[in-house]
Amino acid sequence: MATKKRRSYVDRRQSARDGRRHAALLRARTLADRNRSDQELLAKTAFLEALVNSSIDGMLVVDSHGRKVLQNLRMNELWDIPLEVSGDVDDAAQILYVLSQVKDPESFGETIRYLYAHPEETDRREIHLINGKILDRYSSPVRGHDGRHYGRIWTFRDVTSARRSEQALAESEEKLRTLAESIPQMVFVCKVDGWNTYFNHQWVQYTGMTLEESFGHGWNKAFHADDRGHGSHANEGRGAYEVESRIRRADGVYRWFLIRGQPLENGDGSVTSWFGTCTDIHDLKMAEEALLNAQDELEARVVQRTKDLTIAIDEAQRANHAKSEFLSRMSHELRTPLNAILGFGQILDMGRDASCPDKESIQLILKSGRHLLALINEVLDIAGVEAGRLGLSIEPIAVRDVVAEACALVCPLASQNMIEVQDEVDEQENLHVLADNQRLKQVLINLLSNGIKYNKPGGRITISCSKAPSGRIRLAVQDTGIGISREEREKLFVPFERLSASNSTIEGSGLGLVLSQRLMTAMHGTLEVESEPGKGSTFTCELPLAIPPLEALADLAASPKDVCKFVPTDHAFTVLCIEDNLSNLRLLQVILASRPGVRLLPAMQGSLGMELARQHHPDLILLDLNLPDISGKEVLDLLQQEDATKNIPVVVVSADATPPQIARLLAAGAKAYLTKPIEVPEFLGTLDAMLLGSRPKPT
Ligand code: ADP
Repeated sequence: MATKKRRSYVDRRQSARDGRRHAALLRARTLADRNRSDQELLAKTAFLEALVNSSIDGMLVVDSHGRKVLQNLRMNELWDIPLEVSGDVDDAAQILYVLSQVKDPESFGETIRYLYAHPEETDRREIHLINGKILDRYSSPVRGHDGRHYGRIWTFRDVTSARRSEQALAESEEKLRTLAESIPQMVFVCKVDGWNTYFNHQWVQYTGMTLEESFGHGWNKAFHADDRGHGSHANEGRGAYEVESRIRRADGVYRWFLIRGQPLENGDGSVTSWFGTCTDIHDLKMAEEALLNAQDELEARVVQRTKDLTIAIDEAQRANHAKSEFLSRMSHELRTPLNAILGFGQILDMGRDASCPDKESIQLILKSGRHLLALINEVLDIAGVEAGRLGLSIEPIAVRDVVAEACALVCPLASQNMIEVQDEVDEQENLHVLADNQRLKQVLINLLSNGIKYNKPGGRITISCSKAPSGRIRLAVQDTGIGISREEREKLFVPFERLSASNSTIEGSGLGLVLSQRLMTAMHGTLEVESEPGKGSTFTCELPLAIPPLEALADLAASPKDVCKFVPTDHAFTVLCIEDNLSNLRLLQVILASRPGVRLLPAMQGSLGMELARQHHPDLILLDLNLPDISGKEVLDLLQQEDATKNIPVVVVSADATPPQIARLLAAGAKAYLTKPIEVPEFLGTLDAMLLGSRPKPT
């Protein structure tokens, strides 16, 4: 028993010692735990403070006794709270201060009171400060994990600029809406995916669709099935676009509209939506289509008319050609018997003296025969011009020469009629025209003889030359004759129309002016008339101006091409030049001055040329084709036919550069063919080759 008791005492002491050790251990542990918790708390507090102070929101935590537990710096900034106010632990002074800053202190104070009275409530609203700031205020209770209520937190965020831009946006949208409602076009706003969010009342009115039906993608139903793709332009985001589409009217009729879409972008440039207008272009489009149709129709008609006209022109040309051909053949046929009539008439005339009773009849036969021949020649010429068969040699012609020749030829007729002929062409001016020498002379002779024939005894004709404002050369034949009335002038260029002369004894055919006018046209010139009955008439020819050949030569002489390659020999050469144009003869004279061994023999007529060829047997013949009596081709043929002349080399020098003509003359025996205007080096080269190749002169 005693052992038992002792053991129990020992046990008790032991257990007391264990208890003390355990308590000490527990105390040590609790202390370490507390230290750790304190440190964690300090760290958490530091984090919390950093978090609260770095927030863009103002924060205020008030405990359930109205004491400020926490207030960050942003809170002071937002409200402009002085430090002496914010430094007070009691929130009352600060409340008084913020109340003085808000626009509506009454409702603000009311809300604060309400929220403190109802600690469980949360509340969010916007507060407008008297300085214009707008704060988004949020308040909620602060509750611990255990659910206990510790107080209330207030956060304030500055939303002034956000609200202002929202307001500005709302205002501009409102303006846009007002504008959209007031314009006659239909207006829509849609998102980038084509989802429409706005239509003006014009849309509703036109389509008859309600806004609900139209919003989203509903609007598509109003578009013509073939035109529904216009939303894709917006989807592709290609910037402003324009398309034409048909939109159905409330009564089911489709009309054409011009849809214009304008992207609306936000700050970063990305498209947020599209603003579009639909303008009615139906009438315009219909008119345009009608115009195009009319244009097509007109074009087709023009094509058809042109075709018809071409056929008609071809036919007319064929008919005209046939007529000219007929006239030409007929005239030829008439000339043959006339040849016999005139020939035998002259023989009979020569055999009779003045006392012979047949003399007068024979002279009448001769006069009529000659008249008929002149008539036939004129008809032949007109037919030749019309058929384009009149070989014209267009080259520079000295006006003074051609006028002098024409005047000389009409001189006998003028003195017979007691008419004075005045040649007023300025010799010094040396004007040249581009024309055919023979044909221009023919025209001038006709005008001059008319001026003589239709004049009064003692009358006058003046021929003058001037430069027209157009730069062309104007040749005027003015007479003091009977004149031509306005009515007569209209018929002046009608074939066989002799006007008042048909009742007179003045001889004529009524073909001279017709032929003159056609010749002028063929030479790219004009023939016009001005007249006053009783006072006289002025016939004016206009022709293109030409550079005188000698001036052209002066230009050429300056060039090194004109180097003389001719080796002078002891032989003297004779060159016969058959040429009716004095200017050309002068030119040849100048060119041949560089060939001292060459003698130039000029002939202005074909028959004279033949004579000189027979007599002088020249080393070379330069032959023009348009000669006053016989043609150059005829001269060539004659030269070829005669033994005495057939070996003389002939070089054709002509303004006619058509290949068939060149081939024809070369085939007929010409050794070379040079075209006018003469290229001096080429001319000299040909001349040298011909002369050096020709036989030496017998000494
Ligand atoms: P014709 O052979 O009759 O002279 P033209 O064709 O040369 O034929 O002239 C036609 C007509 O014009 C003449 O018959 C004449 O009546 C009139 N005529 C031509 N030139 C003159 C003129 N200078 N003055 C008055 N009448 C003229």
